Amino acid sequence: MRKDIVITNQNIYNFVEEKAARLSSQLYRTIKKSPKDRGYFAMIVGSSCSGKSLVLIKLSELLSTKSKSQNFIFCQPLVDRQDILKDTIRSRTKESITATSFSTKAEIENIFHDYDIIAVDEVQLIPHGLQSFFLRELHLFLDRGGFFVCAGLDYNSLGGEFIFPALLKTRSHRVHHLQSLCSMCGKPADRFDQRLVNGKPANVNMPDFAGPTDTITYEPRCSDCLIIQK
Ligand SMILES: [Zn+2]
Repeated sequence: MRKDIVITNQNIYNFVEEKAARLSSQLYRTIKKSPKDRGYFAMIVGSSCSGKSLVLIKLSELLSTKSKSQNFIFCQPLVDRQDILKDTIRSRTKESITATSFSTKAEIENIFHDYDIIAVDEVQLIPHGLQSFFLRELHLFLDRGGFFVCAGLDYNSLGGEFIFPALLKTRSHRVHHLQSLCSMCGKPADRFDQRLVNGKPANVNMPDFAGPTDTITYEPRCSDCLIIQK
């Protein structure tokens, strides 16, 4: 059985929760006022502990309680990581919602064909082999007037960008940047997470993608405190 490690022992700050509540309300208002024949694509990026998943969870709650008639789905890629649960979007606040995990082109096609409002978490983890198909379906969905919002990391722990989120940012109508606080100096951390291996900064030659384990951990850091070990 998969060991359900708590994502990290870090909690998110009150200002993060307040910003998540404001942004989810803003997205909900955008959905309400968007013309039915005009697609809209919003993207939420930021470091870990910045409230990205929490925005989606709160938006789901708003849609569930206020817009029962609307046809919406919350989903995320199915990946084999200890911090990503199948069919669940979970925040550091421990709040969670039921979500649909997808791992095939057929599942992506069904999602984009069957719903009017689609939210996807952890977009940086969409496997490379599905990205082109996902982007094609997304554009067809937007052409049909759908509302799409996705959340994810746009920068990796080695100081570079995750390629798929970088591309999605160029296609979105609006990018919302969220912040946490640097675990070293307390300044805003809006991009990076430091990868630590047994508590020490990871080497640049490690893979771009490596989920948290007993030895690998992540913490938000500002650009001054991010250490890329060469
Ligand atoms: Zn710092």
